[in-house]
Amino acid sequence: MPLKSLAEYEQLAEQAHGHLCAGQILGIRMAVYGLKLLGLADPTGADRKRLVTFVEIDRCVTDAIPVVTGCRLGKRALKFRDFGKVAATFCDLERDRAVRILARESARARARELYPEIPNGNQQQMRAYRELADEELFAVQWVHVALAPEDIPGYKAPRAVCAQCGEAISFRREVVRDRRTVCRACAGQSYYTPL
Ligand SMILES: [Zn+2]
Ligand SMILES: [Zn+2]
Repeated sequence: MPLKSLAEYEQLAEQAHGHLCAGQILGIRMAVYGLKLLGLADPTGADRKRLVTFVEIDRCVTDAIPVVTGCRLGKRALKFRDFGKVAATFCDLERDRAVRILARESARARARELYPEIPNGNQQQMRAYRELADEELFAVQWVHVALAPEDIPGYKAPRAVCAQCGEAISFRREVVRDRRTVCRACAGQSYYTPL
């Protein structure tokens, strides 16, 4: 299905995210701009298999991006890199090119300048983020993204089994320690400690 209007995406983002906020509008604008720069007009249809998106922050803005691109975590087409930045990189696998889009820090100040009469910051930003030009909202950088075969959606390979905990490991996430194949948790990279 071709790209929708901002108003249509706002409705979908509100459903997906639980509320409509400035972050949703910024995320929609960011994704639409990314697709425009890549020349992809049908992200959830004909172009579905050629798009991978990297997001760099776990905030409101991130939830709006899959609404436009169709790239979801469970489809392996949405990659999270926790850099704490309001930025996303849109990769066209078919043409092997990618564009990184960063929200400009100045966008909030522009919103205040444009709509000083709106007291609520979120409302002020929502209005401005609908109206400002792409160039005012975002900085653009063409980049190269080296995607390993196991990171590309559709990758298939037998799973490994951790020699220590016995749990199955997909997508070559196993590591070799002291000549044993173990999972990242058993290799000391865990985010949890068993009680
Ligand atoms: Zn929000
Ligand atoms: Zn293990």
